[in-house]
This record gives sequence, C-alpha cells and structure tokens, in this order.
Amino acid sequence: VASYHCQYAWVGNGGDVAADVLVVVDDGRIVSVQEGVPAPAGSVRLEGITIPGLANAHSHAFHRALRGRTHGGVGSFWTWRDEMYRLASALDPDTLFALARAVYGEMVLAGITCVGEFHYVHHDPSGRPYSDPNVMTASLLAAAAEVGIRITVLDTCYLRGDIGLEPNSVQRRFCDDDASAWAARVTAARTLQSSSALVAAAVHSVRAVDPDDIEVVTAWASATGSVVHAHVSEQPAENHRCIEAYALTPTELLAERGLLSQRFTAVHATHVTEHDVHLLGASGSTVCLCPTTERDLADGIGPSSRLVEAGAPLVLGSDSHAVIDLFEEARAVELDERLASRVRGNHTTRSLLGAATLEGHRCLGWPDAGSIVAGSRADLVTIALGSVRMAGAAESSLLDSVLFAAAAADVDHVVIDGTVVVEGGRHVAFDVADALGTSIRSAWNGR
Ligand SMILES: [Zn+2]
Repeated sequence: VASYHCQYAWVGNGGDVAADVLVVVDDGRIVSVQEGVPAPAGSVRLEGITIPGLANAHSHAFHRALRGRTHGGVGSFWTWRDEMYRLASALDPDTLFALARAVYGEMVLAGITCVGEFHYVHHDPSGRPYSDPNVMTASLLAAAAEVGIRITVLDTCYLRGDIGLEPNSVQRRFCDDDASAWAARVTAARTLQSSSALVAAAVHSVRAVDPDDIEVVTAWASATGSVVHAHVSEQPAENHRCIEAYALTPTELLAERGLLSQRFTAVHATHVTEHDVHLLGASGSTVCLCPTTERDLADGIGPSSRLVEAGAPLVLGSDSHAVIDLFEEARAVELDERLASRVRGNHTTRSLLGAATLEGHRCLGWPDAGSIVAGSRADLVTIALGSVRMAGAAESSLLDSVLFAAAAADVDHVVIDGTVVVEGGRHVAFDVADALGTSIRSAWNGR
C-alpha cells in the first residue's frame, strides 16, 4: 500500500480541484481519495497539481524520427508521406523496439500513461511475414513494458496502395495477403496481451482497405469486443477519391459497412460534411483530433464543436510526434477554433482535460483509467507549479493554468498502475533524451 498526499488534485470527470488530497493505492488501484486531510506519516508528498493520467490516443511511434527533418519549406501531406515511407522501409524489430522505447519514454515524461499505437509496419521490407508474424507488435509491447506505459496496439488492416491500386514497394510491408489473413494474425497477437497491454483493431483508411474488407474488420472487432480506429478525412483528396469510387464520403462508407459505434474512433475527421458529423455523433463514435500534426501538415481545422454537439466525444493524439505534449494538443482544439470562428470559449477546460484523460483511456479500451477515484487504475500525474510557465498561477483557476499554460516539461512525477515511473522530471530507469538520440540516428543509418 502506498499513500500520496497531493498539494492540489483534480480528480477528473467533472470534479473540482481540491487541496491536500490523500490518495491511497494498493496493487495498482486507487483504494480511497480524501480531500482536505493532513499528511499521514509515511505518505509521499506530491507538490504541485496532480491530475489523472493522460492518454495519447493516436501514435505512430517511429514517426518521431522525422521530427525537425520535414517541417521546413513547402511540400504537402503527400510529400511528407514519401519521407515517412523512406524511414518505414528501414525499420526492423530491433530498431522499432529502440525507437518505441525512447518515444514512449518521452511520453511518460509528458504525463502520458497510456498510448494507442496505430501500428501498420507488420512484415519484413520485402512484404513477407517475419518468422514470427507478430514480431513488430511484440517489439512495441516490449518497449511499452520496459518504459512502464500502458498500451493498446491498434493492429492496422492495410491492403491497398490507394483505392483500386496495388501497394507500392514500401507499402507491401504494411499489407497482409487479405483481410482474413489480417484477422488471423491479429487474433494470434492477442495472446501477447497483459494487464497493461491490449491488442485491438484499426482500418488504416478507406484508401487502404476495400469496403468488403472493412466489413471483415467490423466483424472481428464485434466478435472480440475490441475498440477499432480508422484515419478518416484527413485530406480533401481522400474524400474526392472515395466519392469518385463509391459515391459516398469516407464516413458514409464506414457507416454503411457497420464500423461506426461506441467502440469506434475516427482519427482526424478534419474534412467531414454535416451528414458525416451527424453519423459520427448519432452512433456515439469518438473523434481523435491531432492538432499539432494537423497544423504541421496543413491538413485544416476539424469541426470540433459541431462534433461534440452531435454527440461525438473528443480525444487527443500526438500522431506524427512533431510535438509530444497533450496540454498543447488540448488547448489547440479550443485555440484553433477561436481562430477559425473568432469566438472564444467553444470548449470548457474540464471537457478538454477530460478528452485528454478519461475519454482517451476509454477509446483505447481502458474504461477503468483516467480519473482519480476509488477503484480506478492508479495513474497520478503531478505538474509542478514553480516553473516559469506556471509560477504565479491562481488557486481559483489552476485547471485553466494547466490547460492554457503548462508544458510537457512541467510534469514532475508520474505514477502508472501504482508504479512510480517519473520522479523529479526524469524517468526512473533511463535517460530518455539519450535513448531518443541513439535510436533515431540508428533508424536513419539503417537505410
Ligand atoms: Zn495517423
């Protein structure tokens, strides 16, 4: 049993900030939460404001190696993708493990306690399965376990280069032979699950999976009760191709093939129609916004308020990892909408922090995480109040300070499933910056 005495804590899920909050943890779960009590002997004092664990609902870990190499100059989503393919063609199980370990390390330093890894680099560079066809998934799970972060591998069905096109030479390693081969491989990968690791499903996009094959993924996710994610309408070109081929928008096509549900998360949903917004909201689908990636790639600004009004909960992802800072993702949802609408206060602070915590965990298949309540998984993220960004924050608006002013660097102490993972702003087991430098250099040298 461990006791944490928080200077301030936000218990999440609509609650208020309280002072002197005692959180008792046993066997990875929160046993009790008491506000306004003195510190008992033997408790660990957490100075600052403690919030529930942050969930990064959309990650491609290896994209972190592109940071700083792809942002200058012109180009587009599609030229960025060419660079990403150059890197993807060089990955092997060892370089993926080393990169993912370092990137997940960067995430826990930012207060992220759970990652949704949208994983599609399945096979060897020629497209043939490795002798263990799930060795790349195993690399991701091993990296997460070593870092101490919870993970949902969203094993991605990827079968086409684009609508009506065979995969190109790089895309071949993303592809299984057909949808039933994908399903058989993912079913086998589920034997790798643990109390802190899930294997669930994804449809890469309507570009990469044909309509009949989307139904196979839908059926697999229903049969296993798994969450299922898909990239949806990140770029207008995807919409144009989909409408040309099927006379349906990507969202309409996914709806027609049964994918939309409370277990489904649409990633991006940047260029969606009113009808798409209605379909997503009415089905209780979740929408994952990735604002720092969407702005980097000049994707556009998704209709976040309209989606919420229609009934679609929002979650957040750092996607390409141009930035790994969920405070930045969360405030960007509001600030981007201010720029587009010239209206302030489109989202509340609690709803945006809820997207970053409780809703994010839920959409990754962890409904028992993301708030500080008895029975919940014991994730505690403490943000220091003494940095140049946070100094002088008012007690009456601490949550607003967290949302609008805090940076990942202000995260001082992180507990995941009852285990201390970050102390004094450092990972307890390894030097994350050093691991990033080494693994990124070797990923690029491998090609
Ligand atoms: Zn993505």
